[in-house]
Amino acid sequence: MPELPEVEVVRRGIASGLEGRKIAGLTVRNPNLRWPVPDLERTLCGLKIRTVTRRGKYLLLDCGAGTLILHLGMSGSLRLLPLTANIAPQKHDHVDLLLDNGMVLRFRDPRRFGAVLWTAGNAADHPLLSHLGPEPLTETFDGKLLYRKTRNRSASIKEVLMNSRIVVGVGNIYANEALFLAGIHPALAAGRIGARRCAGLAQAIKETLGRAIEAGGSSLRDFVGSDGNPGYFQQQYWVYGRTGQPCRKCGTNIEQIRQGQRSSFYCPRCQK
Ligand SMILES: [Zn+2]
Repeated sequence: MPELPEVEVVRRGIASGLEGRKIAGLTVRNPNLRWPVPDLERTLCGLKIRTVTRRGKYLLLDCGAGTLILHLGMSGSLRLLPLTANIAPQKHDHVDLLLDNGMVLRFRDPRRFGAVLWTAGNAADHPLLSHLGPEPLTETFDGKLLYRKTRNRSASIKEVLMNSRIVVGVGNIYANEALFLAGIHPALAAGRIGARRCAGLAQAIKETLGRAIEAGGSSLRDFVGSDGNPGYFQQQYWVYGRTGQPCRKCGTNIEQIRQGQRSSFYCPRCQK
């Protein structure tokens, strides 16, 4: 599943090809995504894409008169292709956004949990976005804020990190990895973590996401001009998916527990 770093890498991969271009058409082959894709062709045609930004895992194409909101869901990918290359749409290529320079932004989504939506108002006020907490890579998010938001919370720190009202875009992989870097056990009650450890954890979240974005930068070409696989990048993880394997720091076997329907991985020696 694409997490925040993948979405940010996609954004960087497509932004320069979209910004400043006018929309020439919209082809919807299958509108049955997470929510039905609205009939937008008349609304969009002729609008200029001003900026391509990201909020959480949503990509926002600001078109002046409104914003096109894209979400990759569980399996979505976006590629910018030249129409002239005559690359025939495949079974799961559900939506094409045509640009005035003959390029097409193609949305592929085999599991159809993704979204293509439009809002004429301020995108930040859209019901999908209005409740979102701060972006983890901005200055707004730091140890002080994490400390403040976790007081009196008895839920585990792992589940609190994955709550998008507290902070957006920290999915299962990066919550596991950041907790390892910060030396915090995933099942620890969030409210019991002191200010200094909250500062370490906020820093670990930034580092984990930042490194993943860097690692993904080298795969940018996968998003532009190719007809290959979406190219979610593989990384070497500290704990994620490593049950029973030795901790890369201390050699103790990594353990796995279930928390809120998700798997948590941790080193019982490094994380307290
Ligand atoms: Zn360890």
